[in-house]
Amino acid sequence: MESKLQQNKKIEMFYQRSKEHGMKITPQRTAIYEELLKAKDHPTADDIYKRIVKKIPNISFDTVNRTLLTFSKIGITNVVEGYGQAKRYDPDMDIHHHFRCIHCGSIIDFHSSEFDNITVPDEISKQFTVISKKVVLEGLCSKCRKG
Ligand SMILES: [Zn+2]
Ligand SMILES: [Zn+2]
Repeated sequence: MESKLQQNKKIEMFYQRSKEHGMKITPQRTAIYEELLKAKDHPTADDIYKRIVKKIPNISFDTVNRTLLTFSKIGITNVVEGYGQAKRYDPDMDIHHHFRCIHCGSIIDFHSSEFDNITVPDEISKQFTVISKKVVLEGLCSKCRKG
């Protein structure tokens, strides 16, 4: 569980980035960001919408969807590498890696200093500029392995 301090830091970054990018901080946007911060499951826009509509009944899916897209543009959330399905958002901007269950689609965070420090193959670094390195492992999560 994240400490209150870490959460506050993220909210501060949210205010900071919003200002830098001229995005107005509205109660709805703040609520969407807070809901995203709480989520540990790499939710889709639809997931966030379903959670937030309980608190703000007049919010529209479109608002949630557009807001999340804006968040990712201004660098306050990551989009999990896609597989042609709905975008999944990740509020954790620190380096970490993902385990993805091919059965239920769960995406679980994990940390590995070894994976953080993997070497980029020459043929890649010659052709491209690498700005982030993430390892995605795929398989069956503990729930699906039992089933
Ligand atoms: Zn699973
Ligand atoms: Zn993640």
